[in-house]
Amino acid sequence: MIAIVGGGIGGLALAAGLRKIGMDVHVFEQARSFKPLGAGLGLGSNAMLALDRMGIAEDVVKAGMPLKEQQFLNGDLKVMNKIDFSLLKKKFDEETITIHRAHLHEALFRAVDGSNFHFDKQVIDFEQYDDSVALTFQDNTKHNFDYVVAADGIHSIFRQNLMPSSVPRYAGYTCWRGIAKNKGDVPLHISSEAWSKQGRFGWAPLHNGDVYWFACVNAVENDEHYASLNKNETASLFSHFSPVVARLISESEDAYFLHHDLYDIKPLESFVYDRVILLGDAAHTTTPNMGQGAGQAIEDAYELMLAIDNESSMTAALSRYDTKRVKKANKVIKLSRQIGWAAQWQNPLLIGFRNTVFPLIPKSLLFRRLTFLFK
Ligand SMILES: Cc1cc2nc3c(=O)[nH]c(=O)nc-3n(C[C@H](O)[C@H](O)[C@H](O)COP(=O)(O)OP(=O)(O)OC[C@H]3O[C@@H](n4cnc5c(N)ncnc54)[C@H](O)[C@@H]3O)c2cc1C
Repeated sequence: MIAIVGGGIGGLALAAGLRKIGMDVHVFEQARSFKPLGAGLGLGSNAMLALDRMGIAEDVVKAGMPLKEQQFLNGDLKVMNKIDFSLLKKKFDEETITIHRAHLHEALFRAVDGSNFHFDKQVIDFEQYDDSVALTFQDNTKHNFDYVVAADGIHSIFRQNLMPSSVPRYAGYTCWRGIAKNKGDVPLHISSEAWSKQGRFGWAPLHNGDVYWFACVNAVENDEHYASLNKNETASLFSHFSPVVARLISESEDAYFLHHDLYDIKPLESFVYDRVILLGDAAHTTTPNMGQGAGQAIEDAYELMLAIDNESSMTAALSRYDTKRVKKANKVIKLSRQIGWAAQWQNPLLIGFRNTVFPLIPKSLLFRRLTFLFK
């Protein structure tokens, strides 16, 4: 019997995938119930392909806004370059979408066996034996499983225990996120990101007439000033971009106005530690600059499902999972970190260089840099 610890995007996708191949798995989630946490998410067509192949894409597509392109703008909101998502659609027959995080959660939750999903079950300790893993919960219960998939996010207690040196690395910038109504001032099917000396602002339409936005500035870790800003104060930090930007921030719904410092982890050499398998952010937390964190968690789920379904032993399946996932997920961590580094430049010389050179990069080259996501 397999246990999945963590009922986030990765844990749910795996539970849904394993259910499709007839496996009985138990999911343990520390939260008492589902709350509409988080704002919006971008899901690349690689993630949609994985969901499709697991037979769980339909509900997600229905709740998503298909994107035709991603625009990169300078501080004056002039387009510097674009990624043409319709080429990805043509090549892989899958949309790139934006989706409300809660809607993605709900769609995945509908695909799992509710009777095997256990809320209010926080794993506080575990022990590995030759033939099993024992999980200890906050309510002092203990259960044994053949294998445990740790889908318990960036602060995974499994990763902390198995790889104590693998601690979250602060990216150097702090970020706000939110959801506001689209008053016709944000075009449909296009996501945009503007880079200026005073920070970065990104926005994308959602399917239900809302807009998801994010905003980042360079900051020291746990900066108290930034943590204390309300919506209007945050809006004035980014109002130099345009009145629409300031409006999106100041008119955000309170429940979805979020502020966090951003982190990733140093790439790991393996996601498999005997009978404990790391998945999603537990294995490869990345900065969100490529919009790939959830997508990579979904790909983990797909590859693990496929490996378990096709290999003759769990040992072979886990080795295949590692081979398929480690290199690619780690490349996302590295590339995303590089993108964030260049997008957050404040030095006028570097910004001048970026604003001159970036528009000269052929769109086909930007597109080619993404194709590793489909290999
Ligand atoms: C600002 C920002 C923007 C982002 N934008 C995007 C985007 O556009 N596209 C994208 O693909 N990704 C994006 N991401 C990344 C994405 O949110 C994560 O990569 C994704 O949520 C990882 O899924 P997960 O299942 O691994 O972890 P999580 O979604 O974090 O789920 C972990 C689950 O485990 C539970 N848990 C934790 N510890 C325990 C325990 N001890 N016992 C039981 N349960 C436990 C938690 O309660 C949680 O439900 C963004 C992230 C950030 C911070």
